[in-house]
Amino acid sequence: MSSQTTPTETSSLLPGHRSQPEGEDGHGKATHSESNLRTRGIVWGALTILLFAGLVLFVGFQHVLEDRFYPLFGLLPKDPILAALAIMEKAPVIDGHIDLPFLTRLRFANNASAIDMESRMPGHVDIPRLRQGKVGGFFWSVYMDCLAPGKEDRDFLTPNWSVRDTLEQIDIARLLMKKYPETFHFATGSDDIKFAIQHGKIASLMGVEGGHQLGNSLAVLRQYHALGVRYVTLTHTCHNAFADSCGFEPGMIPRHHGLSSLGRTLIEEMNRLGVLIDLSHTSDATAAQALNYSKAPVIWSHSSARAVHDVPRNVPDNVLRLIGTKEGQKDAVVMVNFAPFFVAEPGQANVQAVADHVEHIAAIAGKQHVGIGSDYDGIDSVPVGLEDVSKYPALIAELYKRGWNKYELAGLAGANLLRVFQGAEKISRELQAAGQQPAYDLYRKRKDIPRMEL
Ligand SMILES: [Zn+2]
Repeated sequence: MSSQTTPTETSSLLPGHRSQPEGEDGHGKATHSESNLRTRGIVWGALTILLFAGLVLFVGFQHVLEDRFYPLFGLLPKDPILAALAIMEKAPVIDGHIDLPFLTRLRFANNASAIDMESRMPGHVDIPRLRQGKVGGFFWSVYMDCLAPGKEDRDFLTPNWSVRDTLEQIDIARLLMKKYPETFHFATGSDDIKFAIQHGKIASLMGVEGGHQLGNSLAVLRQYHALGVRYVTLTHTCHNAFADSCGFEPGMIPRHHGLSSLGRTLIEEMNRLGVLIDLSHTSDATAAQALNYSKAPVIWSHSSARAVHDVPRNVPDNVLRLIGTKEGQKDAVVMVNFAPFFVAEPGQANVQAVADHVEHIAAIAGKQHVGIGSDYDGIDSVPVGLEDVSKYPALIAELYKRGWNKYELAGLAGANLLRVFQGAEKISRELQAAGQQPAYDLYRKRKDIPRMEL
């Protein structure tokens, strides 16, 4: 049966075989045609296999293929981390607050030659991890702590080393920037930030974390500015001659009920110089008054949302509502702090919880008014998934998953801070063009300057 059926089956697979004429020519033609058909069969077979293999590849590795080819069409990969990395390639992170200089003071006694930032550093920051995390810039916090509680007198006149120590912190920050010129680009303006990012470097700015570091003196502010400082946090955890702090625990008793009159003069001088007013650590009254009084946009260099986690260091909704571009509002950026104590209940701080703070600030103030101020190297624990500077893409990816588009994510990463900084620079240029003079006010409680009667 098989011997009889085989030719039939063969011929049926080759339609037209039996219709071919007999004879030499006919036979020749038939052989040629047979080979043609065979070739065609092989080609079609191969094509079918290829098509099938293509389909399997497309279905099985759809995400991989999309992720490989989407950037060619200006689209983002589906994979959230790849999407975050693609966005951050163009819009890297500009972190509002990193305590690297304080870590180097505590761990290396500010000896720049003993510090190797190209290897693993003891804290959350070193060059390999900054690169991995797509960092385009950060404010190096040149911080010194408040006097111990009870050491400061009511008028903030207790002699101390705050100004010397701040100068030492500026010194170590500048020394480290100079030690790694291929990585860090000293930045004092928004153009410097853009230049650094365009040249693949990390814009390195400086911020003084507390009015107590000014020694009650506007002249010291001007000298910090001359050394490159571009923000001053009005208070740290202590009140000072300029403004009230929120402290650390609830229940801080106010001293000025917001800004003092010297504090308002400080704001005028910061506006004139183009030094950003940083409202992290301030009391709610200080924040609301400063936001209202400043002509320039302001920042919270490292603060989260109180409605998400109720601690005094986070920004309440009534203050967030003062941020914006409408009547009675001011442009600002709240740069979300990663410190677990400010993010969530013990053990609950993770990428999602930090993203909740970002989304709450965005919901009240707008997506253009939120940024990143990790507090890395200044915190002793970290949220799960945001362990160090290499992990910023995880936060961007989390918000990408929640539907933020690339422009909104670029804003969060750094562009919102850049806009606010440019706004402050514009106000500074305008005030100086209008002839505003430096403020010469002295703290009226100072007794050390002789006042000669002329
Ligand atoms: Zn702080």
